[in-house]
Amino acid sequence: RSKTLTAEEEARRRFGRKDALREQLELERRALEVVEQLLESSVAEDFLLESAKFITPANYRDAVEERSILKLCGYPTCPKQLGKIPSQQFKISTKTNRVYDITERKRFCSNFCYKASKEFELQIPKTPLWLRKLERSQVEIVLVCSSQQNLKEPVLPLVDSQAQHLIQKRITVEKLSSCLRTIVGPLHLTLSDVSTDLNDLVKTFRFTNTNIVHKSPEWTLIAVVLLHVLSTVSPVVRGALEADSSVDYVKTLLKELGLEEQHLLSLVELNVPAQT
Ligand SMILES: [Zn+2]
Repeated sequence: RSKTLTAEEEARRRFGRKDALREQLELERRALEVVEQLLESSVAEDFLLESAKFITPANYRDAVEERSILKLCGYPTCPKQLGKIPSQQFKISTKTNRVYDITERKRFCSNFCYKASKEFELQIPKTPLWLRKLERSQVEIVLVCSSQQNLKEPVLPLVDSQAQHLIQKRITVEKLSSCLRTIVGPLHLTLSDVSTDLNDLVKTFRFTNTNIVHKSPEWTLIAVVLLHVLSTVSPVVRGALEADSSVDYVKTLLKELGLEEQHLLSLVELNVPAQT
């Protein structure tokens, strides 16, 4: 930091305050121009390499984000369009069962482009634009090329353990809600009939890396069991489940899951505290 300050003082003395400010604005304007050009659908590799001289890592991250908003792969040399961008911020790895933040990864068409972009970003000098001309040595930037087959899986940021727990809870509520959305209609219920009680119930769950990973039919079964559990505290849910059409619907659902009514009842009993 002191080194930067000394350089700054020196520069200010050399150009005078006004000139320095004018120059700084000029450099920022040019940086924005370069960012603008990085939004072209496919930027030449030479241009990308050259651009590092005129922009900061923050400018580059802006360009990546802008590109993804335009539905272009975030890596400027890649001409691919982004397909449907997942709306969620987190992803559970099926290999490690841990929760990862995919905010950045979502901006790229492939692991390759994500990795190549990260590598490029890391090589952009962190020096403020107006101090760069005082730097003697120019850093040589290298782009990751597609023929390099030794690319390992990119490292996604892992979420810390306390946040993991909150996210596990959120994922569970999200999964259950999306299952319930299709179930509640035929049962003549609405999501708002169940959401408060469901949230309270989920709060009591003890999550681990493995018990939040389920296949879709399993989530459906969990949702049905929890609805029956809720019926012991909620008259609205109890009434809805007792209707003939609901009984038929649940039976059909269980059949599709390869289960009998007895299975459901025993699962519900496991989850309801014994009544005295
Ligand atoms: Zn790409």
